[in-house]
Amino acid sequence: MANHAYRDKERRDIILASEALEENRDKSFYCPYPLCNSKLFVCAGDGSRKAYFRATKSAYKHIANCPYANSSVAFDDNKFNELNFSFENAMQNLLVKKNPKNSSGNSKKSSYGEHYNLTLSTIKQIYSICKRFHPNYSYGNEKIGRMILDDRTAYWYPKGVFGFKIIESCVKGRFYDSDKNEIYLVAPVANPNYHFILSISDINLYNKIRNMVFENKDKIIIVAGDWKPSNLGYGYFETKIYSDRQISILN
Ligand SMILES: [Zn+2]
Repeated sequence: MANHAYRDKERRDIILASEALEENRDKSFYCPYPLCNSKLFVCAGDGSRKAYFRATKSAYKHIANCPYANSSVAFDDNKFNELNFSFENAMQNLLVKKNPKNSSGNSKKSSYGEHYNLTLSTIKQIYSICKRFHPNYSYGNEKIGRMILDDRTAYWYPKGVFGFKIIESCVKGRFYDSDKNEIYLVAPVANPNYHFILSISDINLYNKIRNMVFENKDKIIIVAGDWKPSNLGYGYFETKIYSDRQISILN
């Protein structure tokens, strides 16, 4: 449930749910996903800070695959301590080879007090926060728009996508090359101007991710990368994939 929507079909004029609460509540707004033709209405939630937009009319629901309708986007962020979150640290932890010896390190703290002091760490958790909030909002130490490339934030990146970034991408055309161990994706999904190359030197990991993408060619695929310019030229970027924790499918 996003806390923002758009006043106009072109998705230029963003509005916060807290602002919409002050206006006529019968007014409908546009979904942040440009391909979605749902009509959104503001819901008060638990006061203006918790207000959000919902597609309440059955004739104007979110389309299938809309990232703002997706149940995987919803999770209980009250358990997470925003102050602990560093986007750079989170990305560095995602972009390492999985070490089975360390995997129980920080995921099994279940004593009562620590339960509500978790830090966002998985790609889905970070993505979910990115979708919920306005791109100009900050979470932890970073602005949402600096963490994610999607249709809302593409205009932040006129020169390309560099460094740590989650991309909201999809398949278009040929999506792999098994001689090079590469997967190819495009983003942002409604207006895919940029090409992304996932370079996966571990053959087992490559096969696993290729099969996963193959089975989900019609879905939105999110990838956490450390993006560098590709020698294919303008609009092409590549990252190394060290673990399947860097990639996730929206269902
Ligand atoms: Zn939608």
